[in-house]
Amino acid sequence: MHGVILYCRAGFESECAQEIAALAASHGVAGHVRALRDDAFIEFVTATPGEDALPRLADPRALIFARQALPVVAQLRDLPSRDRIAPILDALRAIDARWAEVLVEAPDTNDGKALATFCRSFGNALVGAMKRMRLIDAAAPRRLHAFFPQSDKVYLCAAEPSRASPWPRGIPRLKFPREAPSRSTLKLDEAFLVLLDENERERWLQPGMSAVDLGAAPGGWTYQLVRRSVRVVAIDNGPMDAALMQSGLVTHVRADGFRWRPPKPVDWLVCDMVEQPRRVAALVAQWLADGACRRAIFNLKLPMKKRYDETLLCLSILREALGAKGDIRARQLYHDREEITVFARRTH
Ligand code: SAM
Repeated sequence: MHGVILYCRAGFESECAQEIAALAASHGVAGHVRALRDDAFIEFVTATPGEDALPRLADPRALIFARQALPVVAQLRDLPSRDRIAPILDALRAIDARWAEVLVEAPDTNDGKALATFCRSFGNALVGAMKRMRLIDAAAPRRLHAFFPQSDKVYLCAAEPSRASPWPRGIPRLKFPREAPSRSTLKLDEAFLVLLDENERERWLQPGMSAVDLGAAPGGWTYQLVRRSVRVVAIDNGPMDAALMQSGLVTHVRADGFRWRPPKPVDWLVCDMVEQPRRVAALVAQWLADGACRRAIFNLKLPMKKRYDETLLCLSILREALGAKGDIRARQLYHDREEITVFARRTH
């Protein structure tokens, strides 16, 4: 098989498929998708090896619904349970490359969870065998992913660390802070990690900066800003967490998030209001176009049907408002459910 494996949230295989098909078409790559609902991964199979095109498709930064995207270098089926390592080593010998690192992964599903213990112990055995064969070299340019959709089938994939998600299964491990007012806090924490690079996080999240949080209660997102010593105006008719208010960095305003505007521009707008996604996209686009905020991170709660179409529509609302000045990045985060998270800013 020549192609790309993409990991996604279970139930979003169709959106992931539509997206990779569109990306492939934009690069002039012919191929087709193989996907099954709730598998939490899809395959995009190309007709030819496509050495030039595959790296451009295997780039999760260019995709919203894929947590990871990896070029496949070999696919093995019917692995014997008594010795899965030998056929994998044979395939690796044929590929004739060294690997900086090895990740053994399973899909993010209940069946995949059952494979987690196997992946761990098999990973140790595989790395040991590869070391003995001198197939591991920290200076090598690519990382090997052995992706097991089931225990007798594996895709061997070659990731370029500069493009691929750095986290196993494309899932950043975040710890829920005990004092955070809600689990939603992890969404904004993950958004900062996934949608911004290290340099941007340092420059754009500095103590003393200002933010507005629309739909803030009870304060999980506000908490992430306060943690970074950012001052927050929290807009919500609902109550804010009392301990968070004691930080002295939060002003709670009971108002309608669709009407309220700050007296002067703020560094950040964040928004987690449960509302029609196109309404939220238009609101944020207006704030950015008016210069009311410099950057925004917001959630778009997707409808039950036509989730991909609605995503495209929301992004087009933002693009239209920001034009060439827009920098828009969107991703379905691990902590997102029926939603995606978007970062947007004006570049000048
Ligand atoms: N981000 C919050 C957190 O981490 O704790 C959770 C926000 S919750 C998903 C959505 C919030 O949006 C609710 O508290 C609701 O009161 C608020 N909300 C919905 N519509 C709103 C509006 N028009 N103006 C202000 N707040 C609104």
